[in-house]
Amino acid sequence: MRRYVMIGSGVASIAASEAIRRVDPTGEILMIGDEVHGYYSRPGLAYYLTGELAEQHLFPFGDPDYRKLNIHRMQARVTRIYPEQHSLRLENGATLLYDRLLIAVGAEAQMVNLPGMKLDGVVKLDNLDDARCIIRQARRGRTAVVVGGGITALEIVEGLISRRVKTHYFLRGDRYWSNVLDETESRIVEQRLVEDCVKLHFHTELEEILGSNGHVVGVRTKDGRKIPCDMVAIAIGIRPRKELAEASGIQVERGILVSETMQSSAPDVFSAGDIAQVYDPVSGKSVLDSLWGPAREQGTAAGMNMAGITSVYRKIIPFNVTRLATLTTTIIGTVGRGEDEDVVGIVRGDSESWRQLPDAIAAQADFDVNRLRVLVGKDTLLGAIVMGDQTLSRPLQRLITEQADITPIRQQLVQPRAPLVDVLADFWSQWQVGHALRTRE
Ligand SMILES: Cc1cc2nc3c(=O)[nH]c(=O)nc-3n(C[C@H](O)[C@H](O)[C@H](O)COP(=O)(O)OP(=O)(O)OC[C@H]3O[C@@H](n4cnc5c(N)ncnc54)[C@H](O)[C@@H]3O)c2cc1C
Repeated sequence: MRRYVMIGSGVASIAASEAIRRVDPTGEILMIGDEVHGYYSRPGLAYYLTGELAEQHLFPFGDPDYRKLNIHRMQARVTRIYPEQHSLRLENGATLLYDRLLIAVGAEAQMVNLPGMKLDGVVKLDNLDDARCIIRQARRGRTAVVVGGGITALEIVEGLISRRVKTHYFLRGDRYWSNVLDETESRIVEQRLVEDCVKLHFHTELEEILGSNGHVVGVRTKDGRKIPCDMVAIAIGIRPRKELAEASGIQVERGILVSETMQSSAPDVFSAGDIAQVYDPVSGKSVLDSLWGPAREQGTAAGMNMAGITSVYRKIIPFNVTRLATLTTTIIGTVGRGEDEDVVGIVRGDSESWRQLPDAIAAQADFDVNRLRVLVGKDTLLGAIVMGDQTLSRPLQRLITEQADITPIRQQLVQPRAPLVDVLADFWSQWQVGHALRTRE
């Protein structure tokens, strides 16, 4: 009987376990995770913060699900892997053997090194305990400073304003999430934040967090201003937890390098999720994602391979449907480029693939609060951002993922002030008919 060991109890490990069970009903599955709350929806934490989702709804898996899959769980921290011996060591000194191992330890928030970082009231948003802490602090405190870019910083801002906390949002640069959004999109988000009484501070950096009796009482900025506050939230990006693999002699770059079958450089050791650096056929590079869907798909592919069924993970065009200042936003394919001063590496709900933009022409349309931007390549669409009205979100996901030939509408799309929405909607209807016919053939 094979022993499969998963390090980490997140979505990648769950998906791998489900895949193994489909193939191997008797093998032993042991899931080792250091997270006290086990498996839950991390993207759901944003809605938990705003009070839209109750805590119990964050948990998609209950004890009966683990029993059904016959997964044994252990709350522990793995400190070392010995690939030669097919063994690993736990923090308490115990040693365990494995036949196949999955490293799915995820990523953690990057923190800054500033005076005052250890004060009570300095928060981040990695896990459920962090979210609980923000809610607790929001009850106690009345003013907060949020630092960083991307989705998580905004999720914290939105959580705080929904709890009526006066919020200052610090941005080092001159606009929000500049390496993914274009200027108009950034301004739409910023305008909505201002309407919600968020005080935006551009070109502003933290110099020091000020404390009294161990608790945050304010911040000092690099340009010498003092802002009183009770809480400081840091969301400047994430870093894959690669120390375990590094210390165990497994090949890492920005994450654990894996093959198309999710295998690491060590025999019988696989990796998936936020920690895995995966080959992207579009760019020919190995890239990181921090997205729930790809973590699940990678976990499934890893599980199949662990159980002996060859399964190649084909990295699809990454997309995320998220909310930016309450505006539903879908991000698909390659949409941005360049640096963002507010972000180190990638943020949660982000993909490095989004920023590998080859030659493309941006076509955009604005109507009311809605905005659509598509990146038009030589004969295909390379990416899109759909803000607000989501009618074209799914069609664009399909057209981009399936690399639909847009030659018939390319000229229309790149015309100044093109009726983008109508052109794409018509094309989508025709493409669907053609696609159905082609599939039938
Ligand atoms: C606030 C937030 C918002 C997000 N928003 C979005 C979104 O809008 N869209 C989207 O697609 N994705 C979003 N994500 C990202 C998504 O949740 C992740 O991509 C996904 O959870 C990755 O799953 P994983 O299994 O790789 O890792 P994780 O879910 O991070 O699980 C890894 C687990 O391993 C444990 N671990 C680490 N080291 C060890 C060790 N040495 N021993 C034992 N256990 C260990 C960790 O404690 C953790 O519980 C968000 C994440 C967060 C936190």
